[in-house]
Amino acid sequence: MARRPSKHTRTPRPLSLGGVASTQSKGDGDWQVRTITGAAAVKEYRCPGCQQVIRAGQPHVVVWPSSASGWGHQGVDDRRHWHNPCWARRR
Ligand SMILES: [Zn+2]
Repeated sequence: MARRPSKHTRTPRPLSLGGVASTQSKGDGDWQVRTITGAAAVKEYRCPGCQQVIRAGQPHVVVWPSSASGWGHQGVDDRRHWHNPCWARRR
């Protein structure tokens, strides 16, 4: 099996949620951030920033670790849903 020289040049595979992911650096590392439109938000989630519910239909962001190192498995399993302003406030 051929090994790629660097994981970092690899484009992340898009999730089924739509939207465009970007990389953002926070105090604890790099995160992939994907914007979820109201139309794509079909479930309620608990925002880790304010502990309030993100309601279905409410635009928000979903984030996951840019690097799976230290997490033990694929970052996509560690996705978190945040309110836009809560994520923006996070350092
Ligand atoms: Zn919040």
